[in-house]
Amino acid sequence: MDPATPAARGAPPRVLPITPISAAPQEPVEQSLYEVRKKIYPRAVTGLFARWRWSVVGATQLVFYGLAWLEWNGRQAVLFDLAARKFYIFGLVLWPQDFIYLTVLLVISAFSLFLFTAIAGRLWCGYACPQTVYTEIFLWIERRIEGERNARMKLDQAPVDARKLALKTAKHGTWIALSLWTGFTFVGYFTPIRDLAFALPRMALGPWETFWVFFYGFATYGNAGWMREQVCKYMCPYARFQSAMFDQDTLVIEYDPVRGEPRGSRGRKADPRAQGLGDCVDCNICVQVCPTGIDIRNGLQYECIGCAACIDACDQVMDKMSYPRGLIRYSTQNATRNRWDRRRILARVTRPRVLVYCSILGAIVVAAAASLWMRVPLKVDVIRDRASLARQVGDDRIENVYRLQVMNTRESATRITIAVRPTPALDRVEVLTDGELDIPATSTRTITVRVRAEPEHARGSVPIEFLVGPVVEKSRFLIP
Ligand code: SF4
Ligand code: SF4
Repeated sequence: MDPATPAARGAPPRVLPITPISAAPQEPVEQSLYEVRKKIYPRAVTGLFARWRWSVVGATQLVFYGLAWLEWNGRQAVLFDLAARKFYIFGLVLWPQDFIYLTVLLVISAFSLFLFTAIAGRLWCGYACPQTVYTEIFLWIERRIEGERNARMKLDQAPVDARKLALKTAKHGTWIALSLWTGFTFVGYFTPIRDLAFALPRMALGPWETFWVFFYGFATYGNAGWMREQVCKYMCPYARFQSAMFDQDTLVIEYDPVRGEPRGSRGRKADPRAQGLGDCVDCNICVQVCPTGIDIRNGLQYECIGCAACIDACDQVMDKMSYPRGLIRYSTQNATRNRWDRRRILARVTRPRVLVYCSILGAIVVAAAASLWMRVPLKVDVIRDRASLARQVGDDRIENVYRLQVMNTRESATRITIAVRPTPALDRVEVLTDGELDIPATSTRTITVRVRAEPEHARGSVPIEFLVGPVVEKSRFLIP
């Protein structure tokens, strides 16, 4: 015991006053791990990059809504006929055997994405991704009906009255109509769209067609009307793995803090240097136009979809203030850090990583194009007739029967010739065919072929090669 304490000295212990605490036991405060969404009201923006984006929106939608109605050779130009297992792409008819071309197309798309992302970051997200494109269209409708940012905010906060009800009904009605039309067009790439259009007014769509029209329509309405930036922030995997494709020389949208800071408001005529200010007037317009609601002045963030709306907005502010444009601009992290000029940035485009992507992509494209160019429009399968393996006919001749499945992938009928390549093992080979040798367009015909030959010294199973037009197909000839 410490001799200095009162107890050690025999003094009575001092009673300390008790401070009462709340009578009710304190409930633990639960912290939500889910960030409650704050609705974003992006402000409209005009400028160079907005024009680019609208051009891409126009082009992609013209292709999407228009292509389904285009005719080619008396049928739909682009049709993925899953029931018949044939894909029509203009003059090209792909069969299940040509699945490799679709795989190659996916590989080409993936490498193109890697290449463009390595060079210019999220170009796809900012200009051509369906989520961006439809959000842009839906926002345009919203602005036309409910008004600009402030009007929309006011309307949402206002109590429900006839005007609010009418505006909301008009907006959602237009959105739903557009979504259903999008779903209809999507299904029109799998079922001939003219048949769908004919069936629609008579309510005669099949159950699957009806399901997919509504499913795709619902996805469009939900993603572009309600979810918007949440799809990019939480659902899209591309935003997560893009950093693997970025490097210090990738073009990204950056705010120049050296030029912009310290930020602060000032009069248009004021000299910012005299006030110790940078070029950022802290107007917040770059945040108001951002469809994901971020502040690009805080640096590169994964939520940034690279839409360049903040560049257009800030350039307009710079113009008003008579400052040079480009406080927010396309740049690279290296360029911003080292104050590189445009020539230096362009020189870094041809770096090893980009060259490797270019070479691989070029090689795949050339190989796929060459393969398509040399593609034989006939496909042949030789199946031995299992009913009669081999039989002796006439003198010393042996006959084998085959069934040839000949597929004409062209969109015009073709007449074929069937022959057998002579071999040392088989002499006096004769080919007798039963059935038509005309193969109608994009169809398969089975032809029974009897091959008679005089075996020289061979016995058992010997190789035999059928020549069907330009196609060579191997099989076996049985000699008992
Ligand atoms: S728009 Fe430009 S000036 Fe205005 S806050 Fe953003 S960066 Fe600063
Ligand atoms: S920060 Fe700029 S480029 Fe990025 S999403 Fe927002 S507006 Fe678009």
